Amino acid sequence: MLDKFLLFTPGPVNVAETLRLAISKEDICHREPDFDALLGSIEHKLISLFQIRNRARYRAVVITGSGTAANEAILSSVVGKGAILILSNGEFGGRLHKISLIHNKKTHLINMPWGTPFDLTQIATYLATHKIDVVAMAHHETCSGMLNPLAEIGALAKANGALFVVDGVSSVGAEGIDMEACNIAFVSSSSSKAIGSYPGLSFVVGRKKHFKRLKRHAAKTTYLNLATFYAFLKDHSQTPNTPAVPLFFALEQALIDILREGVTKRFARIKARADLLRDGMRRLNLDFLIEEADMCSILTTVRMPPSMSVRDLRDRLREKSIIIYEGKGCFAGKVFQVGNIGELSDYDIRFFLAALKDVLLTLQADAADLVAPVRPMGANLLMPPSSDRMQVKVVV
Ligand SMILES: *Cc1c(COP(=O)(O)O)cnc(C)c1O
Repeated sequence: MLDKFLLFTPGPVNVAETLRLAISKEDICHREPDFDALLGSIEHKLISLFQIRNRARYRAVVITGSGTAANEAILSSVVGKGAILILSNGEFGGRLHKISLIHNKKTHLINMPWGTPFDLTQIATYLATHKIDVVAMAHHETCSGMLNPLAEIGALAKANGALFVVDGVSSVGAEGIDMEACNIAFVSSSSSKAIGSYPGLSFVVGRKKHFKRLKRHAAKTTYLNLATFYAFLKDHSQTPNTPAVPLFFALEQALIDILREGVTKRFARIKARADLLRDGMRRLNLDFLIEEADMCSILTTVRMPPSMSVRDLRDRLREKSIIIYEGKGCFAGKVFQVGNIGELSDYDIRFFLAALKDVLLTLQADAADLVAPVRPMGANLLMPPSSDRMQVKVVV
């Protein structure tokens, strides 16, 4: 065992030493100017993570709560009495739908099988034939690793007079998001994924004109009402309720570190790390769930070779201080997921690949023992690509 776990997950992540220091800064009162300045600094830096030419048109509110809090704030605050269309092709799209059903009577759903790209013609037809006020989608569908098309869906929403809201929890901080070109009204994200900080904070970046209009809607929640967050932000750079101040210090530090490196450089570095991982896993004859061109740069979803179990792989890697994710839902037992965000060095990536090879060889040998008691010398990794593409039913 190493003296720490290496988190090869899509979040939580291994945080930088700078953040460990930042979280233990002095105690401040959140109703004092110190906090106004802290939140102001965070807001300014959060907006820099996005491609935005007219910065003055955008604001960012920070919520004490994980990524789901920001998603629920958007879904409960933006729709009013109108109709919302949720686009889902995985677990997180499904969660948006579940949240919306609680808050919005007129919740529509286009539901694709997990890991399947959206059909733009189908969405265009749906929008043309239904009165939809808001379209919501997860940018990076973390359950499959698929990046969904922001520009295309944003254009369809705009053409039909609908607001476009995006769950960016697992992509912001690693992928370019052009708020203006993609017509995004609001995007959510959290502190503990690609931004690389501790879990516990989330945020919503949005067009000021859309934030201003939120107060027209009757409130559906108290704690997560975006109109209230905006009112406190606009006038005092404050939050409505007691914020988790130490987490704000850590988030500010994470953003300082990102901007010091440069956003574009950082995105490229995360992508290069994913490439290193993917090359190494391909060399182990592993097969990926989706095309590399469709993947987000933070995560790789890998098909489990036949006759080995994801649970065994996970347990054996854990013994080597490596944490990976198991597939969920219809992917359970069939795939595992390897993230590449947080404080992971190229050395850590190579360590992971060596450990993975080791564990796969052991599991393969164990499986071979079940059928043939004598193993050939110098057993090598030889896994035919699995032919049983996971079939799931289309429910629209
Ligand atoms: C992780 C994740 C969430 C949920 O975030 P929590 O921090 O667990 O609340 C929402 N959406 C996506 C796309 C995610 O990856």
